[in-house]
Formats: sequence, C-alpha cells, structure tokens
Amino acid sequence: MTSLAVLHASQLVTLSGPKRPRVGTELSALGIIRDGGMLIRDGKIERVGPTAEIEKNVSDEEIVDAGGRVVMPGFVDAHTHLVFAGNRLDDFERRSRGETYEQIAKAGGGIWSTVEKTRAASEPDLLTQAKKHANWFLRCGTTTVEVKSGYGLTVEDELKILRVMRQLKEEVRLEIVPTFLGAHAVPRELSPDEYLDVVVTEMLPRVTTEKLAEFCDVFCERGYFDIDQSRKILSAAKKLGLSLRGHVDQLTNSGGAKLMAEIGATTADHLEQTDGQGIAALKKANVQPVLLPGSVYALGSSRYPRAREMIEAGLAVVLATDFNPGSSPTPSMQMVLSLACTQMKMSPAEAITASTVNAAYSLNRGDKIGCLEPGKLANFVIFDCQDYRELAYWFGVPQTLAVYVCGDCVLNNSDGR
Ligand SMILES: [Zn+2]
Repeated sequence: MTSLAVLHASQLVTLSGPKRPRVGTELSALGIIRDGGMLIRDGKIERVGPTAEIEKNVSDEEIVDAGGRVVMPGFVDAHTHLVFAGNRLDDFERRSRGETYEQIAKAGGGIWSTVEKTRAASEPDLLTQAKKHANWFLRCGTTTVEVKSGYGLTVEDELKILRVMRQLKEEVRLEIVPTFLGAHAVPRELSPDEYLDVVVTEMLPRVTTEKLAEFCDVFCERGYFDIDQSRKILSAAKKLGLSLRGHVDQLTNSGGAKLMAEIGATTADHLEQTDGQGIAALKKANVQPVLLPGSVYALGSSRYPRAREMIEAGLAVVLATDFNPGSSPTPSMQMVLSLACTQMKMSPAEAITASTVNAAYSLNRGDKIGCLEPGKLANFVIFDCQDYRELAYWFGVPQTLAVYVCGDCVLNNSDGR
C-alpha cells in the first residue's frame, strides 16, 4: 500500500471535533489548518498538521503537493437512488412546458417509466449504467454514497437492484451503502395492502438473509404508504436488524417526522413540510434530518425544508443530493451546497459539515470517514480553489482536481487521467 505526504493545502479542512454528529455552533467549526498537510500510511491518515511539521516526518512517502488549494474529506452523500435504467428526459421537457405530474404520468412518464425500464434491464445492463453514475459522483468529489433500491417493486427486481449495488461496490472506488426501499411506490398490479404483505413477508427476509442492505427506507406519503403502513414495514425491518431511514413530509405534512422519531429511525429525509412539532420530535429522539434541496429545485418548487429552525433546535443536519432520474438528476454535492446557502440560509461551513461528517454518522460510519483525523480512512479531495467557501459560491463550476480513496488517487483532473 502507498504512503503519501500531502503538503501545502491552503486550507486543510479537517472537520476534527467531537466523535458524534455536530449540532448547533459545532456545524460551523471546520477545524481548518492553514498551509496544512497529512501523512497517510496503509490507506489511513496517520498525522495531520501544518506543512512544516508534516515535512519533518516525511521519509519515503510519495509527495502530493496540493499547491495552495483546499483539501477536504470526500463528500458523503447519504441519500441517492443511483441504480436505475434510462432517464426521464421527456418528463423534464413536459414539466418545463408547465405540465403537471398527473399529466406527465398519463402520458406514460413518472416513476412508472423508470420502473418499467429497470425491470426490463438485465443485471449487466443496470450495472453498466450504475457505473456511469458512480463515476459522476467521484468526479463531483463524493467518495461515499448511500444507494436505495426501489425501481423494481417485485421480489426479483428489488433483489436484482441490490445485487447490482453489491457488484458496483466491487468494481468502482466509490463506497456504497445499500438501502432497501421496496416501499418506494405501490406497483400497479397490487393493492397497497397486498404489496405491503409482499414487502414484509417476502422481500425483507430475502434482503436480510442475503445481507443485501444495511438500511430500510419507505416512501411515506399520501398515495404511497400511509403512516400505519410505513410503521408496519419499518417495524418489520427493525426486527430483522436493519437500521431505518424514511422519505417523509415531502409533499404533505402527514406526521412522517413524528413516525421516524417514534420508531427510532437513524434519519428522516426530505422534511419540506415538517413543522415545529415534527422538528421537536426529531430532536427528542435524536433522529438526523437529511435535507434534499436538489429535488425542491429540480421540481421547480420553492418550499425548502426549514434548515435554520432545525439547526437552532439542535438537530445534526445532513445534506444529500437525492440523485434520481425524476426529481433530482444531479450527483453534485457542490450544487447542493449552493442551494443550501442561497435557499435555506445555511452558511458554507454548516453545509460542508452537513455533507461530510454528519452524513458519515447518519450512515453509521462516523468512526471511519467524514473527517481528516488520524485513524480515519484517507478519503479526501483536492479542490481547485483556495477557500472552502468557493465550493458553495461558484455554482456550476466543477472544482474537483483530484480524488483519493484509502490513499489511492482514483481521479486526477490535473494530468487528464
Ligand atoms: Zn429519495
């Protein structure tokens, strides 16, 4: 394994701090070392400090000169739907003409078009498309992604998607955290209760026996799975040892946040419609909110989740892309940082904490990734800027220069590799 000495980061953004998700003013503490450096051995960070101090400890390490640029942990994207077939270009164009979701669905679009294409795709075809998406994430400076199933909606198709994730993990240098989201929608061929039965009695046992997922998620929304149905699915998953996440309060405030608190979920995601009571419930139960401003933006909505209230209430906020073909076709965490600052009034520092260390804790990986500290995996990115705030400021400008996973350079834009 290679040993590296990273030198001359204008800002080494360590995110060093308490060994738990960050709340309140901690979200603004990035632990920046100016003209910073790191020693890396066997894929892990051994030492972090000013370049002058790191240089004294260099022996035979390969030198990586950051050249006065920002060095940060790789982004951790805690909510994506990375495995799907095709795209939703026709829906996108219809929406741009002002058509409603109902009109688009009638014309053969919406989630069904993705389910049909994903069911029809073979495992190798899905893997090829997933690899393309995975490389987009690396190019955006993301080194870990949570990935949900949910475009199969039959036992075999959901398992197929989860197996593609497992294979993807072997073939790309992006770390994949798999989540079972069989309850993404009710398939046309079954009633909601019939499908719920399939999810609980057939899918969940297979998923856990084959160890295909770490988390279980559910789309809790009017017309999808109501509070009672969501509770049944999540309770069954919990009994089988899965940790829980949930799509809640996106379109209506149905009490989804309170359900996630009641059931002891790790995260409650979306929360565009969540009110003060929901926020208080999340706080009481220590549930991390995962905010997805990319989907609000791409749907042309203006109702962003109340990030400031959540931070003031002491919640350990997470930001993610919600990468999916329908409502958030972006793998770019930089775009999400921009939206968080301009639309949700988070500071650039809060947004960075929410998309690295807090996201890592929400995936039960806070002890391994999300910070640049001795003992952590050497997953880091050199960005072509001098100040971390530039990542949220220059929107639409790709600033990823080089990406390292476990000390290996997996992407380098400086020499066209
Ligand atoms: Zn989602």
